[in-house]
Amino acid sequence: KSIVLLGGGAREHAMAWKLTRDGATVHVLPGNGGIPNSHPDISATDFPAIQSFCRQHGVQLIVVGPEAPLAAGVVDYFAGSDIRVFGPGRAGAILESSKVWSKDFMRRHGVATALSWQYRSDKLADARAKATELNGQVVVKYDGLAAGKGVYVCSSVAEAQAALDDLQAEHTGWFSFLLEEKLTGPEISIIGVTDGNRIRLLAPSQDHKQLLAGDQGPNTGGMGAYCPVPFADDNVLAAIRTDIIDPTLRGLQNEQFDFRGFLYFGIMLTPQGPKLLEYNVRLGDPEAEVLLPAMESSLLELIEATLDGRLSQTVVRQRPGQYVGVVLASGGYPAAGFPTGFPITGLDQLHPSILAFHGATREQNGQLVTSGGRVLVLVGHAPELEDAVAHVYREAEKVTFQDAYLRTDIGQRPEPMGIF
Ligand code: ATP
Repeated sequence: KSIVLLGGGAREHAMAWKLTRDGATVHVLPGNGGIPNSHPDISATDFPAIQSFCRQHGVQLIVVGPEAPLAAGVVDYFAGSDIRVFGPGRAGAILESSKVWSKDFMRRHGVATALSWQYRSDKLADARAKATELNGQVVVKYDGLAAGKGVYVCSSVAEAQAALDDLQAEHTGWFSFLLEEKLTGPEISIIGVTDGNRIRLLAPSQDHKQLLAGDQGPNTGGMGAYCPVPFADDNVLAAIRTDIIDPTLRGLQNEQFDFRGFLYFGIMLTPQGPKLLEYNVRLGDPEAEVLLPAMESSLLELIEATLDGRLSQTVVRQRPGQYVGVVLASGGYPAAGFPTGFPITGLDQLHPSILAFHGATREQNGQLVTSGGRVLVLVGHAPELEDAVAHVYREAEKVTFQDAYLRTDIGQRPEPMGIF
């Protein structure tokens, strides 16, 4: 079975690794220096080039890693051809690509979420007044895809006004945005595979978005993740089902979405119960790097069952134990302009139980070098979380490149007290 996988980060490396274990031959477009079978000359959004690659290699299934090809309509492009694409069409991808649209969807279908107010860029004065009325305890969200940079979590009126200034400065022309009430509580990622009627969930996971230990500093693409999450017990998961997942599936059915793909719920467990912060229409990165090793069942079979309409007969089994993934990043990331091209050493010294997924590496004169911000994700596992954490950090010391940086507290957040 030959598959084309679109994307080129550590998430896609984990997906390729898993699908290969499941028996597929995986071609990664464009991939990167560390992912076997990468094709750096073909971009994940160049649909005609992807199509001719599929024809040449007899590929009839495309799996998508990042959101960009989905938002650009890769599923619609191949609709009606003999090449199947796992993921939502452009209509479904709007759940992620427009925060205003997805908020309206949540409201239409009674999905638990933060209160919010929607504005257009010509109504900034109204938003400023509202933010002041709420004492600056607001979250400002730009409507479109902004690579994690369109969200401002504010704690004072001054901060909220500065966020609105920044929004105005960053975007020219007409745009929409949301003000949301600021919620509190631990966050959790729930990711499943859906056919638009049913969903099969992977393990609950948590990522670590901020650069510095203790969830301080600027937001990044994610500095690490772990699964499963010990405090996501049956009660918590039942509430998430009732308040968030079930109404979402009813909404997809009522509005007749043809949605076959990954669906990601970014959730905050507030004192008032779980609230949905956002949908993504793909696997999270770095969540995928721990979820896929933790998955015992075949991802290939799950994807094919979804596309064939057999999801109801499919179960997803997880491996026991805890999985922890730590990102090795380039010094200076996530600010722009940090240097890359540094040789990476020590990967061949890693304990065989450690997985090393490549995010931003390339080969230069036979030597593996850094090529971006999130260079590698090392994943370790053990029956207990603290042992998995200790194991992966011990091994991470072996891998070096100039100015390498890692967060030292992945998988070590204090257990939250009394969730709703
Ligand atoms: P991602 O890059 O994860 O897709 P995003 O930029 O699309 O994120 P959100 O997930 O909506 O945006 O928000 C980013 C982060 O901001 C959340 O993980 C959460 O920490 C915080 N956040 C979002 N909404 C709220 C809210 N209503 N109250 C408190 N914090 C929030």
